[in-house]
Amino acid sequence: MATSQQLKRSERIIGSVRVEFIDLAAQQQRIKGKIEKNIQRVLDHGMYIMGPEVKELETRLSSYVGMKHAISCASGTDALLMALMAYGVKPGDAIFTTPFTFIATAEVISLLGATPVFVDIDPQTFNIDPSKLALAIKALKSNNTSIYPLPITHSPLPLIPRGVIPVDLFGLCADYDAINAIAGQNGLFVIEDAAQSFGATYKAKRACSLGDIGCTSFFPAKPLGCYGDGGMCFTDDDKLAEIMESIRVHGKGGHKYDNVRIGINGRLDTLQAAILLAKFEIFPEEVELRQSVAQRYTDLLSHSPSPIAPYLPREARSVWAQYSLLAKNEDARTVLMEHLQDNKIPTAIYYPKPLHLQPAYAPLGYAPGDFPVSEDTASRIFSLPMHPYLAQADQERIAEVMAAR
Ligand SMILES: *Cc1c(COP(=O)(O)O)cnc(C)c1O
Repeated sequence: MATSQQLKRSERIIGSVRVEFIDLAAQQQRIKGKIEKNIQRVLDHGMYIMGPEVKELETRLSSYVGMKHAISCASGTDALLMALMAYGVKPGDAIFTTPFTFIATAEVISLLGATPVFVDIDPQTFNIDPSKLALAIKALKSNNTSIYPLPITHSPLPLIPRGVIPVDLFGLCADYDAINAIAGQNGLFVIEDAAQSFGATYKAKRACSLGDIGCTSFFPAKPLGCYGDGGMCFTDDDKLAEIMESIRVHGKGGHKYDNVRIGINGRLDTLQAAILLAKFEIFPEEVELRQSVAQRYTDLLSHSPSPIAPYLPREARSVWAQYSLLAKNEDARTVLMEHLQDNKIPTAIYYPKPLHLQPAYAPLGYAPGDFPVSEDTASRIFSLPMHPYLAQADQERIAEVMAAR
């Protein structure tokens, strides 16, 4: 009879142990004591709303990111919403963003009655393409769709270009030198959607500090995640920070029952802040571990001609929220993902359909072919398991399974 230890080992050898896509349990095991202590402290003081842990987290993260102000909030979506509200975005305003992202990026624009103007991505980084951003701005300003595809508007008035929301997809920062220059020339603000890139760097600056406002998410699966929903806005601008703090609590003025503007209930729970404080202690080390895991994948997969491993630009360091590959075509992706699934290796597609082709955005009148790079990428991309605690043996097995196709 095999001991359970031997059984476990032999299961691993025959490859029947399921690999976790994101292993939150391994992380929790490391810092269980610290998390429990932090939670207990909140239960003891009882300040569940805006307790001392919230301010402490804001102070720590603003210094990590390198921005003067940090305003925590209830989710990454609320962070983006608060940022747009701080600029007074309203119906008739145009906000340029990528169609190859999670719906939240564009959804907040629409929630305020403004119009997302989509701009295609770079085929290597999957982030907004600065040269196409320049074209889209030019097209909008001259109302000329022969320059670049534009959304249909249902108003006789022309849209007013206000800002850009670049997304740091999969943890890799967009090209902010180029984006900020174009935005500056056109009087546009830049809100960095850093929901996937907290901990990444771009030319020695940290993600969340690359635009006028940086917005991140603490959703459990993000690089720095809590045990529920959470988010944060970062800015160097005193006025914007003051407005976002007000918006977070129903547009408060001097006190809670003094309402100077329309806001939201957008606070981060003290319990989530306490959990994040525990997790943040090992976060810098986890960022390093993510580099090793990603590098190992890239080395292991470099021998096979296809699928294509992610691009590593020299000026940016990804935090690897996802490790995504491009298959030859959609059918090759289906075959490969099924083969991996049969071998208990989970994969995921981020994102199967670009936003301009989502039913929710049908009223914008975009058509297939408007953003060919996003459409092609959506048909071929898939992501492998990725987290700081992914074992070398598991990665070797994943590479073997992929090579056997
Ligand atoms: C997760 C995510 C969001 C939204 O964050 P939530 O905390 O889930 O609201 C926004 N943008 C991008 C790119 C995301 O990945």
